[in-house]
This record gives sequence, structure tokens and C-alpha cells, in this order.
Amino acid sequence: MSVHLPQHTDAPLVTPARTAKSSDGSSKTVWQLADGNQVESLSFTLGDPGPGADAIATPVQNSRGHVVCVSSQAGCNVACTFCATGLQPMRRNLTAEEIVAQVRQTRLIEERDEPTRVIFAGMGEPLLNLDEVLRAVAMLEADSGVSHISLSTMGVLPALDRLTDETSSVDLFLSLHATTDEVRTRLIPLNKANPIAKILEAGERFARTHGRLVDVSYLLFNGVNDTDADADRLIGLLDPQYFRVQLLLWNDVPGLPFTRVEDGVIRQFRDRLIAGGLSTYVMPSKARDIEGGCGQMLTEAAKEHRIKRSNMSMLPLI
Ligand code: SF4
Repeated sequence: MSVHLPQHTDAPLVTPARTAKSSDGSSKTVWQLADGNQVESLSFTLGDPGPGADAIATPVQNSRGHVVCVSSQAGCNVACTFCATGLQPMRRNLTAEEIVAQVRQTRLIEERDEPTRVIFAGMGEPLLNLDEVLRAVAMLEADSGVSHISLSTMGVLPALDRLTDETSSVDLFLSLHATTDEVRTRLIPLNKANPIAKILEAGERFARTHGRLVDVSYLLFNGVNDTDADADRLIGLLDPQYFRVQLLLWNDVPGLPFTRVEDGVIRQFRDRLIAGGLSTYVMPSKARDIEGGCGQMLTEAAKEHRIKRSNMSMLPLI
């Protein structure tokens, strides 16, 4: 049976300011924090594509159930050039209690009883708030309403090694998104200090230490990282003993200079990776129509800032 804290315990930490329901069944909640900051979380069901889902999506087997994707920071300083959240300056780290409250409040509001998977992939880079994230992981682990915990990161060293050493409770998703440091640095500025070879080395160490595969997330952008040469370099970079590939589809963010790849290109890329020996699946996009998908989370408070940043982002990427 699920264990919940009473609602009044969490309510002062995160209060639902607004919710939006997607046509695919997922829902996004904007949470008001006690100090006036806002963050977002997304709730959806894996294994249930819903109307309008990507025809190309091939989620991994056994990945079913309720999922809550939580934020770990209000805003984000990593400033990935493809991400709406990165347009919003980092205001502060969330506390473990604020992170956990997003999960518990979602379950209460939606009257969920089935076990919930929690994914640290909302607003913020979890490894830049590692102390509180590790505390949140421990709290979630003790909550019988939570079945799995995943953490998605751009790869921050040495925090990634610390994660490996200090918890065995999370599944690791490493966001690569490019196969050369030149392109990756343009997409993810912190790649300069955390280059591909180093973060894959740390990812391999995680896989060896915990005896399970690391998912390498690869967000396909039209004309940026979607060629046969990219697929071949990815095959060369990843040891299938330690890594499998999760292909993600870009969700349009107004003002950002990227476009989504065609389904045929995705299929070709996926099939080339599989032929090269890499276990590969395509993750369905969720909540695109309510700006809750990958890279789309941006609170209203940041809209003005988006306009300023998006002017910079129109610089050619490659
Ligand atoms: S993708 Fe993640 S790390 Fe990058 S700016 Fe967005 S929230 Fe931050």
C-alpha cells in the first residue's frame, strides 16, 4: 500500500499554481514555491502512447507505469542552447523536501495509487544540486509509492563520480546529444569543462559499479547531429556492454534555431545504431502541446527573458 504524507505537510512547500492537460494524457503542473519562485513537473504514463503520440516511438520493454518528472532547480545556469529552461536564469537550488513534494502532491492531486517512477529531468541540472538531490533520492527510496528513480544529467564532473559512489538507487541517463566536442560545446556550454570522453568514462564507471546499463540520451536536431557520420561516431564512442541509446525528438521552442528531424531520418539513424550493435530505442515525446516536453519547460516569469536570450540563440549553431 502506498505511503503518503498528509497534504498539509507539503502544501506550504509547493502549491499548484496552474495545471495543463495534454491531448496525450500527460499533465504539467506549475508549482509555486514559498518564496515566490516557480518550477514545473510533468506527470505521464509510460507504455500508453495516447492520441497523437509519435508513430516512431519504440519505448523499451518493461518501461510502463506512472511517471513524474521533477525539477531540481528553479531556472538553470547550464544554458543549453536548445532548452527553454536554460533561458531562465538560475534562481536557486530546490531543497530535497521541495523536490519530493512535487511527487507527493502530484500523486495526491491525481489520486494515484500505482507505484510511481520519478525522473530528475525537469528544470535544472541535478548534479549541480547534488546534496539536495541525494537527500531527495533517499526520501523517495523510503516511500513505498515510488518504484524507480532515474536521473538525467548533462554530465558534470566530479559530481557524476560522487553520484556513482554515494547511491545505488538511481538509473543514470547521460545526455550526449552530439558526437564531437565542437558540436556538443555549442549545444551544451559545460561540455568545455566536461568533454565527451571524460563523461563517458564516468558513465562507464557508473555502469561497472552498479552492474546496469547507462542510457545515453541523444536529442536529434535537423541538420546538426543527425547524419550517418554522427551515427557511426556514436557507435565508435559507446561500448554496448555499458551503454544503450535513447533517441529523443526535439520539441519546438519558439525563437530557438532548431527543427525536428523527419521520421524517416530518425528511423535511419536508429537502424544504423542497432546494426552497429547498440541497443537503441526512441522515446515518445510527451506533452508537446502544453510545452511540457523535453527542453520546453519555462515558467511564465521567464517569458520576457526568453525574448532577450532567443536573439542570441539565432546565431548559427554550426
Ligand atoms: S537541458 Fe537541462 S541542463 Fe540544459 S539548460 Fe535545460 S534544464 Fe539546464
